[in-house]
Amino acid sequence: MIVHKPDFDIWFVTGSQHLYGADTLEQVARDSRAMVDGLNAAGTVPYPIVWKPTVTSAEEISAVLEAATADARSAGVITWMHTFSPAKMWIRGLSVLKKPLLQFHTQYNRDIPWASIDMDFMNLNQSAHGDREYAHITARLGLKRGIVAGHWQDPETVRRVGVWARAAAAVTEGRSARFVRFGDNMRDVAVTDGDKVAAQIRFGWSVNSYGVGELVQRVARVTSADVDALIDTYKRAYTIDAALLSDGKQVERLKVQARLELAIRAFLEEGRYRGFTTNFEDLYGLDQLPGLCAQRLMADGYGFGAEGDWKTAALVRAMKLMADGLPGGTSFMEDYTYHLEREKSAVLGSHMLEICPSIAGGRPRIEIHPLGIGGKDDPARLVFQAAPGEAVNASLVEFGDRFRLVVNEVKAIGAPHSMPKLPVAQAVWIPYPDFTTGVEGWLWSGGAHHTGYSTQICTEHLQVYADLLGLEFVRIGKGTSLEQVRTQLALQELLALRASAFGS
Ligand code: MN
Repeated sequence: MIVHKPDFDIWFVTGSQHLYGADTLEQVARDSRAMVDGLNAAGTVPYPIVWKPTVTSAEEISAVLEAATADARSAGVITWMHTFSPAKMWIRGLSVLKKPLLQFHTQYNRDIPWASIDMDFMNLNQSAHGDREYAHITARLGLKRGIVAGHWQDPETVRRVGVWARAAAAVTEGRSARFVRFGDNMRDVAVTDGDKVAAQIRFGWSVNSYGVGELVQRVARVTSADVDALIDTYKRAYTIDAALLSDGKQVERLKVQARLELAIRAFLEEGRYRGFTTNFEDLYGLDQLPGLCAQRLMADGYGFGAEGDWKTAALVRAMKLMADGLPGGTSFMEDYTYHLEREKSAVLGSHMLEICPSIAGGRPRIEIHPLGIGGKDDPARLVFQAAPGEAVNASLVEFGDRFRLVVNEVKAIGAPHSMPKLPVAQAVWIPYPDFTTGVEGWLWSGGAHHTGYSTQICTEHLQVYADLLGLEFVRIGKGTSLEQVRTQLALQELLALRASAFGS
């Protein structure tokens, strides 16, 4: 489980009305309780779903949705209309709801009881039109929301409820999430810069800088005993060559990363931070760029962005929370260099140091090498090859006051040749739908060179996340054509113009 996983639950609110009488409403309550029990028992939704009493009036609806908004534990609200529930009753409540919403379009019975169906049955099981009345008002209000249709016992339907719950948790955590930047961003870089106030309005992220001197002071306070204990942890968790461990100077270099890890971890804990950035240009007073240290903190679930890239740090944290408990890994990533051999064209992804070992295909090895940039001492880092498999690269970019989430589905392959002289963690992948379309689509979209890379979550999670936040969303993946991507980008430009003219 990742560090600081929120203690969330999800509310399940069933809509009805008074017309039907007490017997029917009791049946509605029994059915919705059974549905909540079934969803919880399925084990696919990673947060407990809490049943709430059926709401049958505008007063009850606004009371429960205001309560969900006020309850810090509630990550979001699932709504379902067992019967008809006239939707003007929902306007007031939905207008004040500030938690992620899922319109769960299902019904209690899977099958129509062909031989016995009568009007009583029809009047009790009206989701087919009750949820359409409700969906009209959520559409008219322009609510950011998720929609899942299907029978509540169908594993695929439950899986999709789980996807929404993961995205909802990431959105809700973001509302109060804090991120720290050690130093500013890399000088002159465009895509890692941005409007932190706009981001806080959109996502809730509170992003603040500390001078690296604050970190230097903390590094000085770390005790030798704590450093030695952490080195023992490294020895258990990773492969370390005997030559390194028998070389006093190299061991001292390794201890610098351990000291950095202890200092940054303490800083993050005290400040309740969910992620951090570093910048190789801003290390005054530190002996090394955080390498191994950043990799290990990422593996625990902290977001990370290099070169001051706070948007990617926050995105990596959101992706790690969405991914929690799923097989695979999630990391900060950078498209580094290409192999451009026609049909074998591929991307080599890596960074100077900071790739999360959660994506490793084998046991990582600690190595120490010079860093050709930044002018600091040789940092220790974990070196490994990423596990092959289906993955996504996601990039959050800013266009003035709007944000775009660009997602490229990729296939991670094992490196076709060993790279014995490359002393960093590495991933090799081929973009979908093919190298050229994938890369050109990314370039048209203005996606960054920094991404969140994940083999745990897929486009679906990120699409729901974008829907709940009202982000522009561009998917470049299986079946996507360049024409589709460019048409979508043009449409988004038009929508942005309309929003700036009329208000969003
Ligand atoms: Mn970079």
